[in-house]
Amino acid sequence: MNLLHELNDPIQYLKGVGEAKAKKFACLGIKTIYDLLTYYPRLYQDRSKVNRIFSLQNGQKETFSGIVIGHTNAAFHRKGIKLTKTCVSDGTGYVYLLFFGGYNMEKTLPLRTKIFVTGRIRRYQGEIQVTDFEYEIIDEKERELLHTNRIVPIYSLTEKVPASIGQRMIRQAVQQALEKFCNIKDMLPAEILLRQQLSDYYTALKNIHLPESQEEYKKARNRLVFNEFFLLQLAFGISQKKIATTEAGIRYFTCGKLVDTFINSLPFTLTEAQKRVIKEIMDDMSKPIPMNRLIHGDVGSGKTVVAACAALIACENGYQTAFMSPTEILAEQHFLTLSRLLQPLEIRLGVLTSSTKKRQRDNLLDRTKEGKIDILIGTHALIQDAVIFKQLGLCIIDEQHRFGVVQRAALKEKARDKDNQPITPDILVMTATPIPRTLALTLYGDLSTSVIDELPPSRLPVITRCRSEQSMDKIFSFIRQEVSDGRQAYIVYPLIEESEEMDLKAAVTMFEELKKVFPEFHLGLLHGQMKVQEKDETMTAFYNHQINILVSTTVIEVGIDVSNATIMLIEHAQRFGLAQLHQLRGRVGRGGHKSYCILMATEKIANMVNSNIPLNQIDDTIFKGAKRLQTMCETNDGFKIAEVDLEIRGPGEFFGTRQHGMPELKLANIIYDAQLLELARKEAFALLKNDPFLTDIDHQDIKKTFFYEFKDRIELGSVG
Ligand code: ADP
Ligand code: MG
Repeated sequence: MNLLHELNDPIQYLKGVGEAKAKKFACLGIKTIYDLLTYYPRLYQDRSKVNRIFSLQNGQKETFSGIVIGHTNAAFHRKGIKLTKTCVSDGTGYVYLLFFGGYNMEKTLPLRTKIFVTGRIRRYQGEIQVTDFEYEIIDEKERELLHTNRIVPIYSLTEKVPASIGQRMIRQAVQQALEKFCNIKDMLPAEILLRQQLSDYYTALKNIHLPESQEEYKKARNRLVFNEFFLLQLAFGISQKKIATTEAGIRYFTCGKLVDTFINSLPFTLTEAQKRVIKEIMDDMSKPIPMNRLIHGDVGSGKTVVAACAALIACENGYQTAFMSPTEILAEQHFLTLSRLLQPLEIRLGVLTSSTKKRQRDNLLDRTKEGKIDILIGTHALIQDAVIFKQLGLCIIDEQHRFGVVQRAALKEKARDKDNQPITPDILVMTATPIPRTLALTLYGDLSTSVIDELPPSRLPVITRCRSEQSMDKIFSFIRQEVSDGRQAYIVYPLIEESEEMDLKAAVTMFEELKKVFPEFHLGLLHGQMKVQEKDETMTAFYNHQINILVSTTVIEVGIDVSNATIMLIEHAQRFGLAQLHQLRGRVGRGGHKSYCILMATEKIANMVNSNIPLNQIDDTIFKGAKRLQTMCETNDGFKIAEVDLEIRGPGEFFGTRQHGMPELKLANIIYDAQLLELARKEAFALLKNDPFLTDIDHQDIKKTFFYEFKDRIELGSVG
């Protein structure tokens, strides 16, 4: 008996495959039995319901059976392609199967052959026809019908695959493989299968490909999804254990007064969610093991204040904090915000980016090294070798998904204790992209998570509409009216074709245009290629209300906080991702004024968005774009938006698979299968609790499989 991944036999030796076909399979990445059996169907068609010909519905995909009663070779004018019509009857009517390309159908389908056909029915010139169909000959000797009269698997075929490889070929090979290797071993211990009521592995494989019923399919899928999650969570469990056992952390005293003083000094009261998360952080920090906590909360949920509390605890204990942000403008903004908030407490802050002037930079580095800076805020400039801390104990990383794992580790390296010895710091990761809990578990399974699931009461939902060029005049007069009332507006241009040059040009050109449209207002321009000082000046002018309308590229995406701004106009909105759109919209609706987000798109997309037709054809770019904009119009809830985003894009693309070392999930969907993920996590952690190094004789198959799946991806330290 073999584990599935041990089945490395080339598929060439399967009955009916052979060398030539094996080459074609290789185009799909299928070389071995393992590859083939884990090439799961993309979808299924229920062809188990066989209809009588007289009842076939025009335009529907239907299955019927019958006997071949004749062939006619019709001349098909276009491009000299020959057309053969094969007539099939079941006694209740006739259907013509249309074959293009001059096949010898008399030979392939001799008269009186019994066949099953599934295809889309059309009534044309008084005939019932099918053009897009699959058929299977009923051979009384054959054991089982594969392509029709059953639930039929449909596999993905990419464009790169030769036309001669088809669904039938894959199905046949799969069927052969399943027959030949019917004793594939289960890697999971029987007790887990029993406890979670999972079917055995071979049955699951068989039924994922060739289910006899919906129920069988569901059970099979459950089992295989569980498997994927189980292995993944095992990996997290192992790396977490490694952190806990090998690294001692800082035990902070958290009963000081600084945090309370700070909270009392704020011009607002914290939300319950903020209070809860601050408490979770304090609990972590007071323990001798290092904190590894992820905070996720929607745009504007007030993460900065929470992070400041953590920094204050570090500060009170004599430790410095490094606060890393993804962009210069955001680092600057954090610096300004925190300076303002922490001023009464006499906390010493600094900001370091790649455009900090040399003299200032040298001074800053000196003070950091001497311990005269309590919180050093910055971009990835913080991880440069020149940056040396006297006693760094806390790393706060904002918008983490923009940083690679490497940067995170490099920052960690800089931590020092009071004797200037290396130490493992506490880590707080903040993300403004609200991550569905299930995704957090899969992506950051090694971090504890806190959610700020409540917005400050002053936040109003932003009224969001999708419009096209045609409505431009109306929109301009709306902006004019709002700005005349004292409000401010953002107009944003997307990154076009990933080229900053073009991006810039579009924004600059439009800036000039808009100045003509709004001669009575002050317009400002903000883009990524401006000097920091220029950016600062523009931002400050916008803060101070000297600029009414800010025209910008996406540099304003994160963190900008001007509560008087009420309009966010986004050009070419269909080009933005959902997370980005949500971030942008989060720039307005921050004060007491009603706010608006106007998403500009092509007329076609705007019509689709506004038509209320459910947009479910999500593999099409236009549909995807429209679906994103429709979602924005429907909800302000960041978590819902993140879920739709995940649904449209898939988890790999959500953050970029490679950066996170996240293995691709073949079958599991972290939204729909959330429950299974939890169960798998429980089982995986329970197993590791009893057998942390997978030494148990019953766990050897898991161990082997685990190593096979993760050998390149996860540092396994002591295991194995
Ligand atoms: P984000 O989570 O998007 O980083 P910020 O921390 O930037 O949010 O907070 C956004 C704005 O809300 C800031 O101006 C901040 O001072 C303010 N704020 C934070 N917490 C509260 C609260 N509990 N009540 C009112 N305003 C708050
Ligand atoms: Mg923020």
